[in-house]
Amino acid sequence: MTNPLPGKALSDIEIEEALAKKGLDRSMFSRLLPLLGPVRSRILAVIGLELLLVVAVFLRPWFVRELLDRGLVRQGDAWLLDLTLVSLLGVGLAATWGARFLLAGLSQYIAGGAAIRVLNDLRVRVFSHVQALSIGYFDRTKAGRIISRADRDVDSLEALLIQGPPELLGALLRCSVASIMLWLISPVFFLGLAGIVPLLCVATWSFKRISQRTWARVAENRSRFTAHLVETVAGARMIQQCVQQDTNRLRYRRLLEDFNEALIGGNLRSGWFAPFTGLLAAVGMAMLLMLGAYGLAQHQLTVGQVAESLFYVMLFLGPLQELSDLLERYATGSASAQRIFLLLDTQPEILDSDTPVPLEKARGAVNFEHVTFAYQPGAKAVIEDFVLRIPAGEVLALVGPSGHGKSTLVQLLTRFYEVQHGAVTLDGIDIRQLTQKQLRRNVGVVLQDNVLFSGTILDNLRLVRPDASDEQLIAAAQALGADEVLERLPLAWHTEVGALGAHLSHGQRQLVCLTRAFLADPAVLVLDEATSAVDIHTERRIQKALRRLCEGRTAIIIAHRLATIRDADRIGVVRNGQLIELGNHAALLHQGGAYAALYRTYEHNEHTPATPQPASA
Ligand code: ADP
Repeated sequence: MTNPLPGKALSDIEIEEALAKKGLDRSMFSRLLPLLGPVRSRILAVIGLELLLVVAVFLRPWFVRELLDRGLVRQGDAWLLDLTLVSLLGVGLAATWGARFLLAGLSQYIAGGAAIRVLNDLRVRVFSHVQALSIGYFDRTKAGRIISRADRDVDSLEALLIQGPPELLGALLRCSVASIMLWLISPVFFLGLAGIVPLLCVATWSFKRISQRTWARVAENRSRFTAHLVETVAGARMIQQCVQQDTNRLRYRRLLEDFNEALIGGNLRSGWFAPFTGLLAAVGMAMLLMLGAYGLAQHQLTVGQVAESLFYVMLFLGPLQELSDLLERYATGSASAQRIFLLLDTQPEILDSDTPVPLEKARGAVNFEHVTFAYQPGAKAVIEDFVLRIPAGEVLALVGPSGHGKSTLVQLLTRFYEVQHGAVTLDGIDIRQLTQKQLRRNVGVVLQDNVLFSGTILDNLRLVRPDASDEQLIAAAQALGADEVLERLPLAWHTEVGALGAHLSHGQRQLVCLTRAFLADPAVLVLDEATSAVDIHTERRIQKALRRLCEGRTAIIIAHRLATIRDADRIGVVRNGQLIELGNHAALLHQGGAYAALYRTYEHNEHTPATPQPASA
């Protein structure tokens, strides 16, 4: 699907909003059809059942006519009942009803199975695609919008892809066969009904146009309030902390009101269609009754034929009533399909090289060669002409004021973002020449806000070494000195960590992540060293674990507490995205520059008790 506003780099959200105002892309159907490939035979079976269903339905009027015209025989002034024929026809009529329920049930069962298969395939495709997208996409797109597409939008495709086509086929067949039968009974009946068809076509065409736009707008509005809900769930703690519940609820209510407005507006614009087709059906029926009465009076038609025609007219007009429902489902489904394809068409910005350089186990030399980077193209560079060469095995600490680019350097080293100028190399190889998997196996990262996955501590450790035994995992934690703290948890190694690790303290989470990094054994380890939030006992454990973890590999430590990095081989000071000083602790202190100033401030703060703030402050 192409950018609807060419020539302008749009975020995913802007594209989606533009699409909501636009008609639908016709090429979408050619993209939807291949999804049905794996259930081709089931779709054919459903179509076959629909055909049989039409036969069963059309046998009924015939039975009724025979019953009226031949079951009741006039002899003189009396009516005689042909009991055998009536019984046979009665059984036949009941059999068509039975067949109808059986066939419809079977058709629904097969279509349901096909829907599960197709929709699950699509869900997995969307899921894998989301996993493959670059981190920049998640910066720009709210999680709820992605969830809304992978969940609700996929669901609403069911009506379009699976139930829609057989139902439409059935409706068309019933209409056509009924027309032919009416023509055979009396061309006048047929011509009378055919008069309403042009009116119906015009009404259907305009209804389709209106409802497609409406449903695209409704889907967009729905995704907005889902996005807000997801954001609220993720930020529940912060919202309560800032006492923002009321404001947040008002925002949600406003989004719901926008959604309702879109829904009600849409219904107002398209609500005329169902009553209109109802009116056409009533006109058609009235016409038949008048023509039938006239035919009876003129002895051109039998009672049985009129009764049979009544059935055919109902079979002709019935699909008209279903039409608005079918078209509405089609519009909802196609709006969703458009949004799903928009997501599937979003290409990861960072791709592996076609001819990657193989690198199993790196030595760990990392170079930043005149690197320049801005998060948005054209925006101010966050990293500018940055040069730093870190030999294998060195422990390097990066310090500097916050917001000056230290974490960004890590993002560039792990290739979550792509440098705009210069290069980052690992063992002399430009990291763009390595696959992202190879690179990230060789560069481990332990961040401040560590995320754990639901499961036990051991499950979380096993993520990096799926084949390790419990004993091996515990031995790694022991080697790091993390065992004492973790064993004190209620179920020790089998303690459930909760969603995103919420049941563990900050320090406990940190220790699990350090053990995980130790098990992964990367050549380069990046640590965002933030231990201020933990108690002194846990901090000592973490410091010990960190030292052990850094042994025998390159370590880049983003330091917040300068006391802990005095032993680093070298310390680099980053300011405004540039390296302004580099050397060991003693040399930098001696130099009396930025590091010396930072260190003095740090020491002063560490040794000065916090001054109580006046109450009015
Ligand atoms: P530090 O680690 O030194 O505190 P960062 O590297 O996190 O600094 O941030 C450097 C600058 O980049 C800051 O101005 C920050 O606002 C900006 N920045 C960080 N992450 C993003 C992002 N994902 N999108 C846009 N700007 C970002």
